[in-house]
Amino acid sequence: MPERSKGKIALEEHFYLPSFEAYGADGSALDGAGKAHNYDPKYFTFVQQRLGDVKLWLEDMDRCGIETMVLSLTQPGIQGIPDRAMAVETAKRMNDDLAKILAAHPDRFAGFAAVALQDVRAAGDELERAVSRLGFKGALINGYSNIGDMNTAQYLDEPPVWDFWARVEELGVPVYLHPRSPLLSQRRIYEGYPVLADSPWGFAAETAVHTLRLILSGLFDRFPRLRIILGHLGEGLPFFLPRVEHRLRHMSAELRGRQLKPVTLYLRENFYVTTAGHFRTQALIDTLLEIGPDRLLYSVDYPYETAQEQSDWFDSLPISDTDRRKIGRENALQLLRLGSPS
Ligand code: ZN
Repeated sequence: MPERSKGKIALEEHFYLPSFEAYGADGSALDGAGKAHNYDPKYFTFVQQRLGDVKLWLEDMDRCGIETMVLSLTQPGIQGIPDRAMAVETAKRMNDDLAKILAAHPDRFAGFAAVALQDVRAAGDELERAVSRLGFKGALINGYSNIGDMNTAQYLDEPPVWDFWARVEELGVPVYLHPRSPLLSQRRIYEGYPVLADSPWGFAAETAVHTLRLILSGLFDRFPRLRIILGHLGEGLPFFLPRVEHRLRHMSAELRGRQLKPVTLYLRENFYVTTAGHFRTQALIDTLLEIGPDRLLYSVDYPYETAQEQSDWFDSLPISDTDRRKIGRENALQLLRLGSPS
């Protein structure tokens, strides 16, 4: 085992509480927590045991040098509730339930709010309440939101959502763009291989395209102070974005997107990238070269990944101690405005 780096802060860490379904939300929408469909039963049991057990979280954190976990409702969460009123109500109550956990362990946990983009104004109001009253550090959004039914989606670059982004910029908090599987009606390419639509591949493909939509919509030109966090070492974008930029040059001017700058610049100026669920040193070095050590953040993707495996990898990475401290702790302290360094 490598020497443990202490005081790590992890940002893509998920919980689930039975109250989610008690509020009337359909638990089957919770791919990760509600129903075991694609998963190996042993793995699924392991994950389920850890999605709501604070004692297990603390044990894992202590063993692996993790001081603070920023908790968020597991995917697709509120985004998968097509009923507008129920989505708004459930988000509010889940945030209240999470706030109770944070209050019991203020030195170990922080929270990302759940917000219901099915009602843009309510989402802005709830984020403001969660940040100013409950002390949350931002929001985590699981990709597109279902509105009305499971085959209708609203993506985050679409015009109604811009009012929400104005509120986010005003509040000065980051938004974590977390993956979810593609819309049910758009999975033809995965037919015969359904697991590929989920975390092995579909999560990254869906989230990378969603991110490109945000960039090409001109959102970051209108709201230049927005900060988006991507997991899984940037969902492939540090590797692919230079080619997107290269090829966009040859597209007709009116189809190249409304962004004012080269697309790779937005990744360096408006995005942070976490190590959640990624264990590949070569990919981390590529990400470091593309966006630099100030924009990388440690994360586990707990409990879908184990804190042990992620920490063993991270703590033995061939990077400088300065970069390990930045990625493991200092960048998160700054971005989330967490208490003074211990
Ligand atoms: Zn995750």
